[in-house]
Amino acid sequence: MAIPQGTPPRVLTIAGSDSGGGAGIQADLKTMLALGTHGMSVLTAVTAQNSLGVQGVWELPADAVRAQFRAVVDDIGVAAVKTGMLATAELVETVAALLGPLGVPVVVDPVGVSKHGDPLLATDALDAVRTRLLPVATVATPNLPEVAQLTGVTVRDEDDLRRAAEAVLAHGPRWALVKGGHLPGDATDLLTDGTTEHWLRAPRLDNRHTHGTGCTYASAIAARLAVGDEVPEAVAAAKEYVTGAIRAGFPLGAGIGPVHHGH
Ligand code: PLP
Repeated sequence: MAIPQGTPPRVLTIAGSDSGGGAGIQADLKTMLALGTHGMSVLTAVTAQNSLGVQGVWELPADAVRAQFRAVVDDIGVAAVKTGMLATAELVETVAALLGPLGVPVVVDPVGVSKHGDPLLATDALDAVRTRLLPVATVATPNLPEVAQLTGVTVRDEDDLRRAAEAVLAHGPRWALVKGGHLPGDATDLLTDGTTEHWLRAPRLDNRHTHGTGCTYASAIAARLAVGDEVPEAVAAAKEYVTGAIRAGFPLGAGIGPVHHGH
């Protein structure tokens, strides 16, 4: 997609770094660029990571997160925010407190565990996600393992997706996007604000190189909200973008390769 002339809309990601460049901050910034926006980053944690998994995690102090946020917001300003890996209860609370008064759309990707099974959020942080972070979200984007962790709802079919979305909405986000990609068959997601329902469907793609899918999806929503889309249009455009990125995912290292942004 062509980059617009002049100053592009500004989008902020608050998330962890993936040294392998496939997920986290790196996926977020690539997505934001591809969708014609200026991406900025508040780093919450550094991971040593590659196609085989996460070898180490180092969280940043809450002061460092606050200072990055103020540096960006006080000078440059933001049109939309995406949150990803927040690592600890203290960082979840810190970020929620910063976002509450901000007054721009916030996409919360409640990152819990990586595809390889590596924990990216402390288990004692789940309560802070439910009670502090979800209430400040414009859109919350859990996948099925995350929705089970947060709400206790196990999703086996599309009816369960509706129950899961209602359980997410009970924690206060304006919209819930429950991503059904972990079910067999088509990748079907449900977006709802409790009044309207939008079903998003994409064919199951035969590509195992899907590292960074969730980060990419949430960042694409934030980028489209920054451009001025309403939530349903932003999510539909983001679904299309992430489907293309999965289709173009490529092998890297000895394990699972990343989705591709140059498609
Ligand atoms: N690393 C970081 C920093 C992330 O934020 C995420 C996902 O949000 C992952 C890794 C996991 O990516 P995936 O589950 O797509 O492999």
